[in-house]
Amino acid sequence: MNATRPVSSGWLRPHAADLPIDPARPAHGRVVGVLALQGAFAEHQVAVERLGGAVVQVRKPEHLAGIDSLLMPGGESTTMSKLLESSGLWAPIDQALRGGLPVFGTCAGMILLAREIIDRRPDQRCFGALDAVVRRNAYGRQIDSFETDLAVDGLDEPFHAVFIRAPHIEGLGPGVQVVARHASEPVLVRDGVIWAAAFHPELTDDLRIHRLFLSATAP
Ligand code: GLN
Repeated sequence: MNATRPVSSGWLRPHAADLPIDPARPAHGRVVGVLALQGAFAEHQVAVERLGGAVVQVRKPEHLAGIDSLLMPGGESTTMSKLLESSGLWAPIDQALRGGLPVFGTCAGMILLAREIIDRRPDQRCFGALDAVVRRNAYGRQIDSFETDLAVDGLDEPFHAVFIRAPHIEGLGPGVQVVARHASEPVLVRDGVIWAAAFHPELTDDLRIHRLFLSATAP
């Protein structure tokens, strides 16, 4: 536990069809938007579908209609920031977040949700939905990527977490709750219906963190 080791080539999951559906289908009836401009969106989609939920891939403003929550994947936050603007999605997502749409950002998704980005590209924007200051690629200085087991509030067993050039949370507002830490530093946080992870729960076949988010944000 808490041993840190480099990413193995084994973390990429088998094809979705090979993965079992949770028989309890805890996300049944949910319509979850997955921001699908770039990055690991297909993996989030698989996680929601395995939990019994329906997914809308969000690429245009009209795709936001009818979703009850939004997942923002890992990938490259600078690229996503640009594509959010060119697709016309920036303003309607911003408005939806201010209106209380539940959201879970993982890695690059967390960077997009933050209030402030350190080491950002000058043209890179963030929604400011999460009262957090994050530093890009902070875990990428010594070692690009690593995997480690995390103790997560609400889970009985450790969660195997994959970090890839992960952002580091440098500061959190008083309303933000820490759900998991790595080496004493927050890596999974929530402020009400706004959740963010520095790592990639979508890149392992463990559905427990998606389940936690979806049950905490059930309409
Ligand atoms: N370093 C990336 C960024 O700045 C995030 C990495 C990731 O999502 N795995 O957007």
